[in-house]
Amino acid sequence: MATPTADIGLVGLAVMGENLVLNMESRGYTVAVYNRTAAKVDEFVNGRGKGKKFVGGKTPPEFVASIKRPRKIVMLVKAGQAVDDTIASVAPFLEKGDILIDGGNTHFPDTTRRMKELAAKGIRYVGSGVSGGEEGALKGPSIMPGGDETAWPEIKPIFQAIAAKVKDTDGTEAACCDWVGPEGSGHFVKMVHNGIEYGDMQMICESYQLLRDVGGLSNAEVQQTFTKWNKGVLDSYLVEITAEIFGYKDPETGKDMVDLILDKAGQKGTGKWTVDAATEHGVPLTLIAEAVFARCLSAQKDERVAAAPLLAGPKVAKVADKTQFIADVEMALYASKVVSYAQGYALMAAQAKASGWTLNNGGIALMWRGGCIIRSAFLGKIKEAFDKNPKLVNLLTDPYFAGELGRAQHGWRRAIAAGVTGGIPLPALGSALSYYDGYRTAALPANLLQAQRDYFGAHTYERTDKPRGQFFHTNWTGRG
Ligand code: NAP
Repeated sequence: MATPTADIGLVGLAVMGENLVLNMESRGYTVAVYNRTAAKVDEFVNGRGKGKKFVGGKTPPEFVASIKRPRKIVMLVKAGQAVDDTIASVAPFLEKGDILIDGGNTHFPDTTRRMKELAAKGIRYVGSGVSGGEEGALKGPSIMPGGDETAWPEIKPIFQAIAAKVKDTDGTEAACCDWVGPEGSGHFVKMVHNGIEYGDMQMICESYQLLRDVGGLSNAEVQQTFTKWNKGVLDSYLVEITAEIFGYKDPETGKDMVDLILDKAGQKGTGKWTVDAATEHGVPLTLIAEAVFARCLSAQKDERVAAAPLLAGPKVAKVADKTQFIADVEMALYASKVVSYAQGYALMAAQAKASGWTLNNGGIALMWRGGCIIRSAFLGKIKEAFDKNPKLVNLLTDPYFAGELGRAQHGWRRAIAAGVTGGIPLPALGSALSYYDGYRTAALPANLLQAQRDYFGAHTYERTDKPRGQFFHTNWTGRG
């Protein structure tokens, strides 16, 4: 048998896999490649991979044998059964100490299960979120690995070499890839990343509707506004591409492309997984939940069209001071974004507690700083907050963010008020403000709620004038 020459192997030569191996090879690594449909291996090695350091494997044993030990193999196949099928095809040829990495969008409980199954065979398993799409995979994605920590020193040099790079808070260059934590935590963090992406996109869309329908801005003015915002506190990939979208003309009609696109959003399910985890742990992840449901409502296009003439709304009065209104919407978007990340981090803390994980909170913010869809300058401030206080309970109470929210709240409230008065739906921006006001309210009206529960169901309540932990019941009607 020939001497193994590959530094790492990859299974799954689809969009992500092809680009990721080209990235690895460009950093000096020799990469073994394999795909269930073997014809794709030759196609790739003789096509995009021609003349480069790739070793094509036609069968699982041939592929595995071409990789240096301990073997490192990345799977980039469809999430779900395909991952189990790939493990079943490759694992029989692996030896103790070899490392298998799932780089797809796997639901995190599956990763925890697979890790345990493979650990029993001495195989080290890693579940790694990879974000940034096709371009990220090729030029530098955000990579979020978790699982068997003994694998980290072995894969760290390659993973950090191929990841996106950003300036760390101390000015040094840092890779957007670090160890996340145990079991399925890498995939969990990637899932929360996707949920946050849903929230960021929805907030931007609501800001656009405010600017258009209340502010009276044209598409060109919206483009200028987002371009300007991208130079300030909202500096981020999604704000940047939003500005570009508003400048794009349809080649067929010459009209603004954005006006020709049907307002019916799709989704693949990672946002729903995030909300499922939040409801399981009782974490108020209101903004992402609203963002998921906003997509669902958008998908009910025909119902909305039928309801439009039947349901009354206010006449939208255009704002008097456009410049002030644009500044207010900017603050609404910024403050709501802080709330969304605070909620996302609260969910990560709850899952970590339930699973006995210790998560690298500052490292997660750094991993999201570059290479991925939610990348933004603002994440540097989140890293600073967790570096200063690793036990921070809620990002809103970090002194920097509390100060920023105090500064932003006036414009935020004015923008929401103008939207509500004008009949503009603001599920994300509005729920963010409600969460902020709820979180800073020492006495919520839940005293009444507890009274109601006790009235009809004898569910008991605690009293403000007695020690916590003592429960009381009142016979509210006097009946026996
Ligand atoms: P994909 O369309 O999700 O999957 C195609 C790959 O999966 C092919 O290599 C295919 O092999 C293989 N496959 C499908 N069923 C299989 C089975 N039962 N057994 C073995 N292999 C099987 O490819 P992708 O878009 O490149 O995504 C790969 C992973 O990355 C997914 O988990 C995806 O969610 C995640 N991801 C994608 C993006 C993106 O922008 N596309 C971004 C981030 C993460 P054959 O050629 O034999 O069919």
